[in-house]
Amino acid sequence: MGVRSAPEIWEAALGELQLQVSKSNYRTWLGKTVGLTYQDNQFIVGVPNTFVAEYLDKNQRSLIEKTLIGLTRGDTRVTFQVNGWHHDTVESYTGRDDIASAIPASVPRFNPKYTFNSFVVGSSNRMAYAAAQGVAESPGHSYNPLFIYGGPGLGKTHLLQAAGQAAVTGHTQVLYVSAEQFTNEFITAIQHRKTEEFRNKYRSVGMLLIDDIHFISGKEQTEESFFHTFNDLHNANRQIVITSDRPPQAMPLLSERLRSRFEWGLITDIQPPDFETRLAILRTRAEQDGPAIAPQVLEFIAQQAHQNVRELEGCLNRVTAYARLVRAEPTLELAAEALQDIAAKHPEKTPLTADLVIDAVAIDFKITLEDIKSRKRDKETALARQVAMYLLREETDCSLAQIGKEFGRDHSTVMHACGKIAADIEASACLRRKIGDIKKTLHPHPTNGN
Ligand code: ADP
Ligand code: MG
Repeated sequence: MGVRSAPEIWEAALGELQLQVSKSNYRTWLGKTVGLTYQDNQFIVGVPNTFVAEYLDKNQRSLIEKTLIGLTRGDTRVTFQVNGWHHDTVESYTGRDDIASAIPASVPRFNPKYTFNSFVVGSSNRMAYAAAQGVAESPGHSYNPLFIYGGPGLGKTHLLQAAGQAAVTGHTQVLYVSAEQFTNEFITAIQHRKTEEFRNKYRSVGMLLIDDIHFISGKEQTEESFFHTFNDLHNANRQIVITSDRPPQAMPLLSERLRSRFEWGLITDIQPPDFETRLAILRTRAEQDGPAIAPQVLEFIAQQAHQNVRELEGCLNRVTAYARLVRAEPTLELAAEALQDIAAKHPEKTPLTADLVIDAVAIDFKITLEDIKSRKRDKETALARQVAMYLLREETDCSLAQIGKEFGRDHSTVMHACGKIAADIEASACLRRKIGDIKKTLHPHPTNGN
């Protein structure tokens, strides 16, 4: 086997991945990726934006790594890197933050974008925002600790780092770590008999920011170590700010004494943003990111993601990226198209099952379910079967293999059928209309707004 370049390996991997995930999934997440480099078992994949990077990292890393095993020298770790054509330019998302642990306390790694200025304040986060500003202005003298909790993607890390960056400007020595990093460092310190150093590092700062504290809940030794660190800092009037995905009383494994420490200061939450705040966030983002987007398009996007600012930003990125890709203005129609998979995820709409689709096709062709799933090869039955396969690919999240299974065929048969029908639709207005009619029966209410 000759040595293949990263782009070639990735092309081959995409070929395999296409068979393993649904069409819409492939199109949304993998379609616009490229193989960048492959070195020392590290495979770097270029992706259009951070949203895609995070999605792939969270949901498809293991599938991708498994696929790469057969195409590389094995045991490959994949990293998703945002490549140039979106505004974010290059930022790696490896899913790990372990580089930071090697960096001394005086140089916290903050995201320069996470400042108070760039944080949009609304009723859902006003209290948390004010409290974070309070501790940044006079560390150790307002609420200690400040405990901020809320669901994922609601701006906890943003606020925490904003407080840190503001305090650094006021010459406070700040240490920012995720609870996971704290745990890892603690374990490493024990292994290397360096607990003294570990202790000194954490106890010498003016402000300690711990992100995602829920991570240490139930890890007794780490909790114990954190407990002592907490006490030392608190006794010395050093500011502690903590974030968590839930309030202290909802962490059943957290030791009672740590819980009561958390309750000494101020506990405040961040709620999902209301529509106005979502819109304001989108406006700010759109202004920073370049071309103007019509207000009604922003409103449409604000209606799509309710629970999570990260998703909201992802939607905006998708719309602008999509517009750029097809070289069109980000109109309402285009936004709807770019976000159709997300809209389809809305619980109001019942997802189409394979059975529903096959049923609809059988009814339209006036043949029985048994026949359509059989080996019968007369022209009409074969066509119905191929149309069903095509529609399953278009309308559901089924993979080629899953579709094949419905009919006792393999994925290559399905792929062939989809290709054939796609071509036939181009050529035959009659077939096009027929398939259009079946689609209508599948979607009785095509636009039901949000
Ligand atoms: P969490 O730590 O709660 O999971 P993050 O702080 O990582 O969430 O926020 C996710 C994304 O949403 C970040 O890009 C952040 O800048 C953005 N974000 C969240 N809330 C706001 C807000 N109120 N104003 C502006 N951006 C926000
Ligand atoms: Mg966070």
